Amino acid sequence: MALHLAHRMAQIKESEIREILKVTQQPNIISFAGGLPAPELFPIEAIDKVQHLVLQESGTTALQYTTTEGFALLRSWIAKRMNSRLGTSFDQDNILITHGSQQGLDLSGKVFLNEGDVVLCESPTYLAAISAFKAYGCRFIEIPTDENGMDMEVLEQTLKGTPHIKLIYVIPTFQNPTGKTWNLEKRRRLAALATEFNVAVIEDNPYGELRFEGEDLPSIKSFDKTGQVLCTGSFSKIFCPGFRIGWIAGDKNLIRKYVLIKQGTDLQCNTVAQMVIAKYLALYDIDEHIQKIKTLYKDRRDVTLQALEKYFPDSVQFTRPEGGLFTWMELPEGTSARELLLRSLEKKIAFVPGGSFYPNNPKENTLRLNYSNMPENRIQEGLTILGQLVKDYLKDGAEKMS
Ligand code: PMP
Repeated sequence: MALHLAHRMAQIKESEIREILKVTQQPNIISFAGGLPAPELFPIEAIDKVQHLVLQESGTTALQYTTTEGFALLRSWIAKRMNSRLGTSFDQDNILITHGSQQGLDLSGKVFLNEGDVVLCESPTYLAAISAFKAYGCRFIEIPTDENGMDMEVLEQTLKGTPHIKLIYVIPTFQNPTGKTWNLEKRRRLAALATEFNVAVIEDNPYGELRFEGEDLPSIKSFDKTGQVLCTGSFSKIFCPGFRIGWIAGDKNLIRKYVLIKQGTDLQCNTVAQMVIAKYLALYDIDEHIQKIKTLYKDRRDVTLQALEKYFPDSVQFTRPEGGLFTWMELPEGTSARELLLRSLEKKIAFVPGGSFYPNNPKENTLRLNYSNMPENRIQEGLTILGQLVKDYLKDGAEKMS
């Protein structure tokens, strides 16, 4: 007998990326699919030591319930870090610890969205943000996005002409999936528009610390004078994702609302994980650790871009990210990255077709490539094969047309 599920479940489909990730568990697969950090850089020994220390020194606290807001020392570290790197002016009461930054997105849906409300997002945008917001019955409007961020004219017209817009969701630095970064002017303008139209902005920034070249830019939040902007952040890419510790930061009154709603979700995040991270930050130099990550990823990005230049046809375009984990590829119009994926899986190469990153209007000729998770020789090998597959695929398509 089929049970009667909530209406929202009709919107929730199997995620293509998760299905592909299952395939990538097979041995010998060369996977550009996931967004996984390099596991060889997880600070396992340090964590082992720190975990012992936390349990020896403060075992009863670490194994006890804590506040929903999260461990105070950790919140205070996050506030200071954001102030120095992103131009914000936070203290610990502006910060709520969340179960990865992903939970910050889900809680944002809970706090802001009624059924039928509208979320504006970049086109394309982060797949699991679409899933998180969709569960609250919202509608998406994709705002065209170029090399430098959202098209501000279209954004303004949309804000003027559309009722029930509740959220603008953006990833302005080393975006997932495209690797693109917004320029200063668009950051400033978005903050101003959010104030003018009284809409909340979620500025999602899990990759901002991983800049390999160019200058850091101030956050959108740093231009926000009216408390419209909330920032999500994460230890997943600068430390490790397994602890599932992230945060949401914003105006104190708004963060109170998030605290209230999180109480009903999971009471709090894992106390041990929060204390271990706080202790690690006190005893070790996280900047030194982040530098190691950046050096490794830069080399992998360089190898990726060189291979794309060398082995792929000129009709294919790709982004040149200055940081983060991804590059984004556009095949010629009329082609399908899903078709290409079927061919490439036969050769044990995986990537994510780009169509899933568009909530409404998928561009099927796009795909995302991750470069953080594999050594350079595997990247080389994989892209040599994929380049040939793309050439064959385009040739077959051209023959079909003639
Ligand atoms: N936002 C973006 C843009 C992401 O790419 C991810 C995952 N990689 C997340 C949020 C969630 O990350 P986490 O929950 O591990 O912090």
